Amino acid sequence: MDETRPALWWARRDLRISDNPALVEATRRADAGAVFVWTRGIHLWSGRRSGHLARVLWQLRDALGGALAVRRGDAATVVLEAAQEADAAVVWAAREYSPSGITEQESVAAALKADGRALKLIGSPYAVAPGRVTKADGTEYKVFTPFRNAWREHGWRAPAAAADLRQMRSWQRHDADVDLDQMAAHGDSSDPLVTLHEFREDRILEALEDFVASDIDRYSTDRDRPDLDSTSHLSVALAYGQVHPRTVLAETGPLQGDGPRVFESELAWRDFHADVLFHHPQARRDSLTPVLADDDWLTGRESDAVFMVWRDGLTGFPLVDAGMRQLQQTGWMHNRVRMVVASFLVKDLLVPWQRGADYFRRALLDYDHAQNQLNWQWVAGTGRDASPFFRIFNPVTQADKFDPQRRYVQRWVPEVDTPAYPSPIVDHKTARADTLALHQAARSARQGTSN
Ligand SMILES: Cc1cc2nc3c(=O)[nH]c(=O)nc-3n(C[C@H](O)[C@H](O)[C@H](O)COP(=O)(O)OP(=O)(O)OC[C@H]3O[C@@H](n4cnc5c(N)ncnc54)[C@H](O)[C@@H]3O)c2cc1C
Repeated sequence: MDETRPALWWARRDLRISDNPALVEATRRADAGAVFVWTRGIHLWSGRRSGHLARVLWQLRDALGGALAVRRGDAATVVLEAAQEADAAVVWAAREYSPSGITEQESVAAALKADGRALKLIGSPYAVAPGRVTKADGTEYKVFTPFRNAWREHGWRAPAAAADLRQMRSWQRHDADVDLDQMAAHGDSSDPLVTLHEFREDRILEALEDFVASDIDRYSTDRDRPDLDSTSHLSVALAYGQVHPRTVLAETGPLQGDGPRVFESELAWRDFHADVLFHHPQARRDSLTPVLADDDWLTGRESDAVFMVWRDGLTGFPLVDAGMRQLQQTGWMHNRVRMVVASFLVKDLLVPWQRGADYFRRALLDYDHAQNQLNWQWVAGTGRDASPFFRIFNPVTQADKFDPQRRYVQRWVPEVDTPAYPSPIVDHKTARADTLALHQAARSARQGTSN
């Protein structure tokens, strides 16, 4: 392998300049190239997410002085062609651990190898890469708290040095280029998504600093309050890799107190879910633990009808409706409310978690496969170290506790106290009792068959 030739950065879920080991490696020599593959199967999202991705890439290209090619196609073809065009012997990229990410990087590695080139993987989207935190006997942790303790003990690297971007190459126009200018312009400044979710890396880092300087201390007490808006809102930037969790942890690490520790623990959940999906790729669709019999779930038209009422925020349960409308209007929802709406769909309405997860995939700007699927499984009681199925959130008492002045509900459901607001779609007490009875019956049946 000729180490004097230029290299290529294959940008994936690491769409940032700072703290980016793959970019640092690729730019060690002059004339480095950068390419992002806009893949139909992977980026066939809602217009909302495609629009946001386009803005993220647009600002990244700008930060790289125009030296980013964004091309449609499958990863193996696009990366190989870009490597040939850049005369790159080596392509650098961050390693992915999700089932689709692994397949993708294997196909790119094979295509490059067949052409006498190499794919080198460095770093990951996580503080500690999936598969690294293991018990003494080398097996995975199944329970979160010991995982988090071992995760802290394992530790993470310091942020990477700055990449030298001065001599990156610019690209010739290519038929497969995505028209970023046109796509990024789709959202205008009156679109709440544009103003709510920052897509410029420098401003994201500023927002992180502001959060650490002023809000993190109250995080441990206020994070469950959707009315106080006291969380970091970093999830969108983390999902696209505009900030690395290691950069965040480098900011929180020196701080004392419960706020920073509880906040770090949330980042440990992020790594835990990625670890679970890495060990159990089937968890992207299948429940890791079954909770009800297959025919207990609502199906057909009945299921479609209640699903649409839930999706549109018209269930007659103000906290559920507020959350679903916040999601619809902004592409983001507060974590406590995500838990309540998910529990309501699965346990009050008996709709399988996969259907809710699919809707979140289209609606969330911070959609992250591992986080979404495993959080749904957590709420549904089907995942690793999940909330037990018999724990059913009460949407009324949750609202009383976490939105005591009803400010959150009134903001998203302005008609809540008028006759225009629908009556509850179910009686929660009855729905809860029915669901628990189904659960008990399914458990007994499973125990019966395993005896
Ligand atoms: C049903 C359901 C679906 C979800 N889907 C997603 C998703 O697709 N993408 C996503 O990033 N998060 C998801 N979450 C987790 C969580 O709701 C969001 O990460 C959080 O609300 C983002 O807001 P924030 O950045 O202000 O969080 P903060 O409270 O400021 O937390 C900081 C960071 O910690 C991580 N984090 C916090 N809570 C969790 C959690 N429960 N699981 C994993 N990581 C966490 C996130 O990266 C977050 O940005 C889901 C939760 C539920 C209950």
